[in-house]
Amino acid sequence: MTHVVSDADVNTARFTWRENSAMAARMERFVSPGKGNGVRATARIRRGELVYSAEPLASCVSNKQAREVCHHCFTRCKTLLRCSQCKMARYCNTTCQKQAWSGHKTECKCLRSLLPRAPTDSVRLAARIIFALLNPSHSRSGELYPLDEHESHLDSMSEHKRQGLSQLASMLELYLQQEVPHLAQDMTSALPPSCQETLSLIAKVTCNCFTISDGELQEIGVGLYPSLSLLNHDCRPNCVMVFEGTNLQLRAVQDINAGEELTISYIETLVLTDERRKQLEEQYHFICHCQRCDSKDKDSLMLSGDESAWQRLKEALPGLEKLKAESNWEALLESCNHLLSAVGGEVPDENQYKLRLTDMALDASIQLGLWEDALRYGQKTLPVYRQYYPDPHPVHGVQLMRVGKLQHYLEHLQDALETFKQAHQIIKITHSDSHPLTTDLLMKMEECRAEIAQRSSSSR
Ligand SMILES: [Zn+2]
Ligand SMILES: [Zn+2]
Ligand SMILES: [Zn+2]
Repeated sequence: MTHVVSDADVNTARFTWRENSAMAARMERFVSPGKGNGVRATARIRRGELVYSAEPLASCVSNKQAREVCHHCFTRCKTLLRCSQCKMARYCNTTCQKQAWSGHKTECKCLRSLLPRAPTDSVRLAARIIFALLNPSHSRSGELYPLDEHESHLDSMSEHKRQGLSQLASMLELYLQQEVPHLAQDMTSALPPSCQETLSLIAKVTCNCFTISDGELQEIGVGLYPSLSLLNHDCRPNCVMVFEGTNLQLRAVQDINAGEELTISYIETLVLTDERRKQLEEQYHFICHCQRCDSKDKDSLMLSGDESAWQRLKEALPGLEKLKAESNWEALLESCNHLLSAVGGEVPDENQYKLRLTDMALDASIQLGLWEDALRYGQKTLPVYRQYYPDPHPVHGVQLMRVGKLQHYLEHLQDALETFKQAHQIIKITHSDSHPLTTDLLMKMEECRAEIAQRSSSSR
C-alpha cells in the first residue's frame, strides 16, 4: 500500500524533527563539581522557554487517586470505567482502556493475584518499569541517563530505611510471583544487572521517581523519567517541571547561560534551611550546599515575630495537619481561627507557621463554602508568597488563580481581573500559553472583562 503524504504531514514531520533536535541540543550531561552527574545548558536559554519534554519510561496513578483519575491519560473524571478483572484500573472511556491494555495486561494478572490487597505506588511503578524494559518495542536509545546508572544509595542509607525498602522489595516479588515463571529468565537476559535485584530496583525507584501532578498541583501519580533524574537540586532552581497528563515539561524560570547547570527543586522550598536540609538528606541522601542553604536565606523572615507566640502555632501544626488529613474541615477552621486571632499582630503574616495556618484556613473555608472567609485568608497569603517566590513558581501562580476565582465568584470583578493578570505573568512562564491551565485562566479573564463591560453598559 502506498502511503500518500500530504503537505500537512510533511510540515508536521519537519516541525517535530526540528523541535526534537533543537530540544535535544539544549541540554547535555556533564559532571557537576561536588555533585556528580548533572545536566547543563548547551546554549543560552531564556526564561519561559521549554528546555525538555518527555514521556515516562513507566508511570502509574497513585492509590489515593485510583478512583478519580484515568489510568491511561491521567485526566480527572467523575465517572470511570473499571477494569472488570483487577477492579483497580479505571479509564475515561473504552478508547483509553484499549490503548492501555498492552501495558496493563501483565499488570492486571499481578493485581488479581494480590487481591484484596493492593501494592503500594512504588511497587506498582517498579513492576511497570520491569514490564517496560522487557518490552522490546520500547526503545529509549536517546536517554541521557539509563536506569542502569541510576543511584540506589543503598550503601549510604540508614538501617531503618533499608529495612523499609526490603519490605517493599518482598512485596514486589510477591506481586510478580504469578508472572515470575515467564519473567525470571527474561529478566536476567534483558535487564541490566543492577535492575534485576528487586531491592536495588526499589531503591532506585524511590529516590529517582517524580510525582506527577495536575494543573492545580494536586498529586495524581508517580513516574520515572530517566534523563530528568540527572537534574540536581537547588533550593532556588533555574527550572521547574510541570505536567500535561504524563508528559513532563521542563521550563526555565531564569535566564540561563550556555554551560550553566540546570536545576530543579526536589522539595517544597518555602521552609526553613534546617528542615529543607533534613528532608533532602533523609530522602535523597545529600547535604544541600546551595546559595540559599549556605546563607540561610529568608530564615529570619520565616521566623519573624514574637517567638513565644509563634511557638504556639508551631506546636499546633501536627494536630491541624491531622484534622486536614481527616477532612475534618469545621474543626480545622475553628482551631485555625482561634489560634490566628490569639496571636494577632504579635506574629506577622510572613512567619512560616502563621502562613501554614492561614493556608489551611483557606482550604477549610473553601471546602465549607465560606467564600468571604476564604477570600480574606487567601488575600493575606499573596504578599507573602510574592516575597518567598522571587522567580515565577507554579505554587505562586496557582495561589493567585485560587484567589482570583474567589474574587470573581464574589463579583469583585476589577480585583479578580487584576489577580488573574498577575497569575498569567507567572503561569505563561511556568506552563506556557498553550497549557490547559493557562487556557482556563485566559478564559476566566475574558469572562471578567465581559462582565465588567456588561456592568458598565447597564449602569449607564
Ligand atoms: Zn483517559
Ligand atoms: Zn485490570
Ligand atoms: Zn539548598
